[in-house]
Amino acid sequence: MDLNYDNNNIFARILRGELPCIKLYEDEHTLSFMDIMPQTKGHLLVLPKEPAVTLYQLSDEAAVACMRTVKLMGKAVEKAMGIPGSTVFQHNGSAAGQSVPHVHFHVLPGPLKGLMEH
Ligand code: ADP
Repeated sequence: MDLNYDNNNIFARILRGELPCIKLYEDEHTLSFMDIMPQTKGHLLVLPKEPAVTLYQLSDEAAVACMRTVKLMGKAVEKAMGIPGSTVFQHNGSAAGQSVPHVHFHVLPGPLKGLMEH
């Protein structure tokens, strides 16, 4: 994946309000909204407002802000779905499965499909 930030990626456009999202939470540094193709009911995303393709390009300040929002949203989704556990994951680069080139964290209630079968 090209690590130069593309200002017209889908999440950049959502952050600018050019594309819609089902917004759950927003503060000065982060935004959280529902995933459009949820892997399980309640699957949501958390992203920094700072432009960065991967976690490794993100400032420490923005990374801390993301973790604060991930903690908030993880606890909220467990409560909302009545499931006492949740999963947080994140892809860096297309070689790792990242399809939208703006860093983001997946948060979903319970396990990733299939993980509990092992
Ligand atoms: P993957 O698509 O392999 O999960 P990513 O980690 O880059 O790779 O995740 C991108 C996520 O963004 C996907 O879960 C996808 O469903 C979600 N997504 C793509 N477009 C939108 C959109 N417009 N609104 C909300 N979620 C979106």
